[in-house]
Amino acid sequence: SRVVLQVRDLVKHYPVSKGLLRRRAGLIRAVDGVTFDIRQGEAFGLVGESGCGKTSTLMEILGLRAPAAGTVRILGRDVVELDRRARRAVRRDLQVVFQDPMASLDPRMPVGAAVAEPMEVHGYPRERIRRRVPELLRLVGLGFEHADRYPVELSGGQRQRVCIARALALEPKLVVLDEPVSALDVSIQAGVINLLDELKDRLGLSYLFVAHDLSVVRHVADRVAVMYLGRIVEVGEAETVFGAALHPYTQALLSAVPVPDPVTERARERIVLTGDLPSPADPPSGCRFRTRCFLHAALSAEDRAVCATVDPPRKPRGDGADHEVACHFARPRKVL
Ligand code: ATP
Ligand code: MG
Repeated sequence: SRVVLQVRDLVKHYPVSKGLLRRRAGLIRAVDGVTFDIRQGEAFGLVGESGCGKTSTLMEILGLRAPAAGTVRILGRDVVELDRRARRAVRRDLQVVFQDPMASLDPRMPVGAAVAEPMEVHGYPRERIRRRVPELLRLVGLGFEHADRYPVELSGGQRQRVCIARALALEPKLVVLDEPVSALDVSIQAGVINLLDELKDRLGLSYLFVAHDLSVVRHVADRVAVMYLGRIVEVGEAETVFGAALHPYTQALLSAVPVPDPVTERARERIVLTGDLPSPADPPSGCRFRTRCFLHAALSAEDRAVCATVDPPRKPRGDGADHEVACHFARPRKVL
C-alpha cells in the first residue's frame, strides 16, 4: 500500500562547545542515519530510552529543524525542498501531538476556540468550523459542554484529548505523537491509547508514535522500530518485535516490560543492561551497543573484535515479516 512517510538516512548533529572560549569540540550525533517507511493506515512505533534521538528525528520530519543529511518525503513530497506555500499544504497532511498538553494549549483560549483555530488559520468557512467543533470534541470523547472551558479546568487526559481533536481538525493523513501519554497519570494512559487506536481505524490515519517504553506502543503499533544512540537497531511487525526480538537491546527492553500474569512475571528473567548510556558525542567504535551488550561477554575474542570494529548494518532477517536487525551475532531468546 501507499507510503505516507519515507525517511532515508536522516542525520542530525549538534555542535558541542567546550571551555571558556566555547570552542567547538565535536558533534553530538543525535540522529545518525535513520531510515524507515510508514504506510497508509499504519501505526509505526519508535521506541528508545531518553536521549536516543527520538524528538530530534521528529523535528526533522516536521520540518522544524533542517537535517544535516538525508531525506524526508511526506506523500511523495520532499519536505526539505518545499517552498513556504507547499510546506503549508504538507503540514495539513501531517499533524503533531506533543507530550505535554498544558504546554501545547494556550491557557487563555477556551477548548472550542483551540479546536477551531487550525481551521481558521487554514481559511475554513465559518459555518463549517461551527459544525466541525462539536463533531471533533465528540470524536475524542468530550461533550460539547467542554467547548467553553479553559485548559486549567480540565484533567490531564481531557487536555490531551483536546490536543488530539486539534490535530485532527484539518483531517491529516499522518499524525506524529511524541510521547502522547508519558505526562499523564498511569490510570488514564490506557484510555487515551485506546482512543488513539480507535481513531486510527475509524479515520484511516497513519501514526508515528514515539515512546520510551515498549509497553506503551504495544497495543497501537502495527510495526515497531527500536532506536539506540541515534540509530534504528531493530525494526519489524509489532508481533515479530514483541514475540521474536533478535537484537539484544530490544530483548533487554522487553524483559523490563511487566506481564499481567504474576506467575510468569516471577519466573521471568530480567536482562539488566550494565554500564551507562555512552555519550552521543562519542559513540563506541564498531557496534555502538557493544559496551552494554550482554551477548558480547559470551563471545569469543575474535567475535568481540568484530563488534569493536565493524558497525553492524541493518539487515533483513528473512523471516518474511520485514524484520531487520543491526547486530552481528543476533539470536533468538525467550524473554516472556
Ligand atoms: P527523550 O526521551 O528524553 O525525549 P529523545 O530520544 O527525544 O529523548 P533527543 O531529544 O532527540 O532525544 O536528544 C538526542 C540527543 O541530542 C541527546 O543527547 C540530547 O542531549 C541532544 N540534543 C537534543 N537537542 C539538542 C540541542 N538543541 N542542542 C544540543 N544537543 C541536543
Ligand atoms: Mg524526546
